[in-house]
Formats: sequence, structure tokens, C-alpha cells
Amino acid sequence: MTANPTATEPTLLTLPTPGDWLPWMAERGDAQLAETRRLVDDLKAQRPADAREVLRIWNEAQTALGNAASIGSLFSEVHPEREVRDRAESLMQEVQKLDTDLGLDTELYAVFAELDGSGLDADASRVLEHTLRDFRRSGVDRDEATRARLRELSEQAILLSQEFSKNIREDVRSIRVRPEQLAGMPQDWIDAHPADDDGLVTVTTDYPDVIPFRTFAHDAEARRELVTQFLTIAWPANDEVLQKLFAVRREHASLLGYATWADFDAEVKMIKTGDAIGEFIDRITALSGERAQRDKAVLLERLRQDRPDATDIDGADATYYAELVRKEQHAVDAQRVRTYFPFEAVRQGLLDVTGRLFGLDWTPVAQGDAGTWHADVATYDVAKDGERIGRIHLDLHPRDGKYKHAAQFDLVRGLRGVQLPEGVLVCNFNRGLMEHDEVVTLFHEFGHLVHHVLGGDQEWVRFSGVATEWDFVEAPSQMLEEWAWDADVLGTFARNAEGETIPADLVAAMREADDFGKGYDARTQMFYAALSYDFHVHETPDLTARLRELMGRYSVLPYIEATHMQCHFGHLDGYSSAYYTYMWSLVIAKDMFSAFDRQDLFDPEVARAYRDKVLAQGGRRDAADLVADFLGRPYTFDAYAAWLGE
Ligand SMILES: [Zn+2]
Repeated sequence: MTANPTATEPTLLTLPTPGDWLPWMAERGDAQLAETRRLVDDLKAQRPADAREVLRIWNEAQTALGNAASIGSLFSEVHPEREVRDRAESLMQEVQKLDTDLGLDTELYAVFAELDGSGLDADASRVLEHTLRDFRRSGVDRDEATRARLRELSEQAILLSQEFSKNIREDVRSIRVRPEQLAGMPQDWIDAHPADDDGLVTVTTDYPDVIPFRTFAHDAEARRELVTQFLTIAWPANDEVLQKLFAVRREHASLLGYATWADFDAEVKMIKTGDAIGEFIDRITALSGERAQRDKAVLLERLRQDRPDATDIDGADATYYAELVRKEQHAVDAQRVRTYFPFEAVRQGLLDVTGRLFGLDWTPVAQGDAGTWHADVATYDVAKDGERIGRIHLDLHPRDGKYKHAAQFDLVRGLRGVQLPEGVLVCNFNRGLMEHDEVVTLFHEFGHLVHHVLGGDQEWVRFSGVATEWDFVEAPSQMLEEWAWDADVLGTFARNAEGETIPADLVAAMREADDFGKGYDARTQMFYAALSYDFHVHETPDLTARLRELMGRYSVLPYIEATHMQCHFGHLDGYSSAYYTYMWSLVIAKDMFSAFDRQDLFDPEVARAYRDKVLAQGGRRDAADLVADFLGRPYTFDAYAAWLGE
């Protein structure tokens, strides 16, 4: 960005002080919604003939609506006070209702449909083109009865999706075990889980419990019990919610003239059609088949040392035995590994690494100066070349009523000269030592955050931040994971209590160990992708039965009796038919990573080219074009296939 003395100073968001959250949510939410309505009314009343003027007003309206959406979506998932979460949730409903209304507003559509866009620059004409596409996909050009029904369906979908998330968030299950059943668990975890008055220890289905327990606990029965509870979260409530949600989406797609929801959804993604999703899943399934069987045979063989009569291995044992194989055959002891990853050091290390890579400075902002929703949140201002370009908030530990997964949320979408981008990482790490997997997750999520901030210097809010096609958004994050596997990178911050840096040969062994299992991981991912695709293409009377069938076809691990994983598979809501995007993005991430020198991941030239040609572009061009611009050629499957074979 060049200095422009006439440009206004973009603002940062001022968050309220504790106790003022409820009125703040209401005021900011209402004000932004009112601003959206006012601008749209203006647009319809004035009907400017100049295309650029129409887009300018529309941009402001979209910014205001986005501002309301961001606080609604974030605070409904993270605010510690239930009243604030509820207020945020109802704000989301209002936002989505208004968004639906605008998409179906024939008068508003007429303003755009009549525009002559021939004099617009490339960015503005892309905004116009995408806006017209949105209108068509909303059904604004359909008859009145159809539009009314589409509106009803959208409202139902919002409620169903909120019910689905709430059922998952609030159904925390647990088992109680005798202290000796904790054998194998890390000592700091055991210390944090004292026995109750009955002499029993409660282990919950929240990530900080379930992940280490299924990885380390020797007691096979307790492991199976917890995994079964985990795979039964939100059952049976969400089975019915899902059936309704799929029915709503089916009808929605059909009213708009699409054969399936997957076709409707894929149209605006890199993959383009529903059929192409099925083909992609089968392609990856075939590519990974041999490797997956080989990985599984190793697990089964190790299981047989403990249980000679075992004929198969499932998800209640696979994580534990994969860990054992890594420890015994690849000399990687995860409990030794974690001693190098104390949380505070990892967080600072991540900032240092990404700062160096992308030429950014992160300056801590004291809580009192920025305002925050919880004492755990760490806030930083982000500067590029000495100029502040945005702000990030890291909310990284679990608490009651908080979002259970790991994700990046927008707080503010950047708009040049108006508002700086602000993003939030919401994760659930424990406060002590981190598993290396968690370190990888942190790098991954941070990739989204960096994309949001770097892509936030835009004239058009529609292109701001992570605004590319949805099947590309994971690629920058998946690529950033590579930095969490590099000995030189880890060497900059991974130190144990004695101050010793993580040894390079341990990192090499960790990578080798990680390579173990990538075949069956790919197949597990394809099972999830098939689930998400299939449920949106075929009407399915018994979801669990169909899940079982698809698991048999795509996963190499068998179904666990009496489980209903679809009920807590949150991505069935958020990603709908497009869970394939994780793997699709990975194919592209591997290809983009091939441009970096593996001997020097900090090479500034490649990193800056990637920063400027991919991340900073936001959604200004199709992702395929951004990638081609960075690589100097179109993307291919080659790097992915080579990685799978490594
Ligand atoms: Zn991600």
C-alpha cells in the first residue's frame, strides 16, 4: 500500500468492557443492520445509472451486513455469557434473513440488471458479475410463489443449522474410570484430572480429553467406551435435524433448477459440478488404496501382539496402535515430543516464524487497551513494512459453552481506508505441553488468519480476506502446516524444560512416523467426503445404515457398532456436500509447496511472491489463476501423488 495523505485512517474495532457486552452486541448489530437497509433503500430510490456508483453503495451495504454477521457468528460460539451468545445467535438469524431478503428483492435486482458495466475496471466488473450470479442463485428471477418458498427454506435452514451446532456443542458426554485405567496417560493430564469422592475420574468427549485418551490410554475397554460416546454425540437429536436439513437443501436446489444440492453448491467452486466431486473422491480413493492397505496391515499386526485373535482393527484402537507403531517402529515417543512444546513458547514461536516468513510484525496489545471477551484471549496488532494492517485475537483454550473445534473467525473484514481486518483464532488447546498434532493445528488455523489479514487490503469487501472459492480456502493453511514439520523452523522455538532444542533427528523420525498412516488417513477423508456428498445427492431413509455402507466402501477401518458419527460431524452443516474440499485443497497445497526450497523454508523471495500473488489477492481473481500466477503454470496432481508415494 502506498501512503496516501488524503485517504482516511482505517479504524479498529473497539470492544466493550466486561458487563457491557449485551448492550454492545445489540447496538452494533442493530446499527449495522439499519445501515445496510438504509443504503439499499437509497440504492433503490436513486437508481444511479453509473455502474460504479451502484457498486460503491452496494459495497458499503455489504460491509455493514458483513460487520453484523461477523460479530454474530463469532460471539454466538465464544462468548462466556450465555445471554450474549443467545443475542449473537439471534443477530445471525436477522443477518441471514436480511441477506435472503436482499437476494430475493426484485426491485434491487432491477438496479443491477440494467447496468452497463462496460466502463468498469477488472475488479469492479468482477464484483458486478459475481453480484448478478448471486442474484440468479438466490432465485430473484423466479415467480413470486417460488421466491416465497425459497425464503421459507432459507429461514428453516438457518434454524436447523443452529440447532445442529447447539446439539453438538451442548452434548458433552463422559465416562468415569478407576485411576488405574489412566495408565499410559501423560502425567500432567493425570494431575489435572483428580479422582472424585467415589474414587473415579471423569473423562469427557471434549478434545483435550478424548484426543490424548484414545491415543495413549492402555485400557482398551475404557478407550472403546469413550470413543463410542464420542461417536454418539448429539444422537439421536441430530439425526432428525440432518434429515430435515437435507430435505430443505434438496428442495432449494430443485426450485432453482439444479439436479442436486451438490450441483448447486459446486457451481461457484473450483470443482464446478456435483459429478466432478464423485470423480475426485474415486480418484483419490484409487490413488491411496495400496498405501492404505499397507498401513492398515501394520496396525493389525501390532494389535495381534496384544490380541492374537484379532481379525480387524477399528477406530477405537487405530489411533492408539498408530501411536504405538510410531513409537516402537519409528522411535517417536509422543510424550517425549510434547516436552518440547510448552504452549507459551509455541504461540510465540508461531508468531516469530510467520512474521519472518511473511515480513510481518506482531505487537501485543494489552487487554485493557483492546477490550476482550475473556482473559484467555491474546491480542496483537499486525504491521507490514512498519504500517499497521490489522489485528488478531488468539482464543486458544477450552471453556464451558465455547466452540469445540479449531477455526478462524472474522471479527472485521478489511476495507481499504475504512476498516482494518481483524481475525480471531478459536481453538481448544490445553495450557501446558502441546501434542505436536496440536502445534500443526495451530499453524494450520493461523494460515487462515494470515490470509484474512493479508487479503484484507481491498477496495471491494467481497474480495476481502479468505474470499476465494471454498475448495481453495484450506490450501494456504495446509501449506503452512509444512513449517511445523521442519527441523530448522521448529528449532527456533521448540525447547524442553532443560532448555534443549528439539533434536533434528527426532523431527526427522516424527516426519517418517507421520508418513505412516497417510494412506488410511486419505481413505478416512474420502469416507467423510463421500458422506457429505452422498447425503446431499441421494435421499437416505436411514443415515446410519448408509454411513456404514459408505464406510465399508471408502474407509479401511470398519464401523463401530451403535455409533452415529454423522450426528456430530459438524461439517455436514458448514460444508454441506463439499467436504471433499479438504483433500482438493491439499492437492493444491502440495503443488504450491513444491515452489519452496525444502532446505530453506524461510527463503524470502518465494515466500513474498506467495504472500503477494496468492494471499494478498483475497478473492480478486479465481483461485486457479492466483495459483498459476504464483507457480508460473496451472496446478496439477503430480506433487500430491509424489507425496503419497514417498
Ligand atoms: Zn482449515
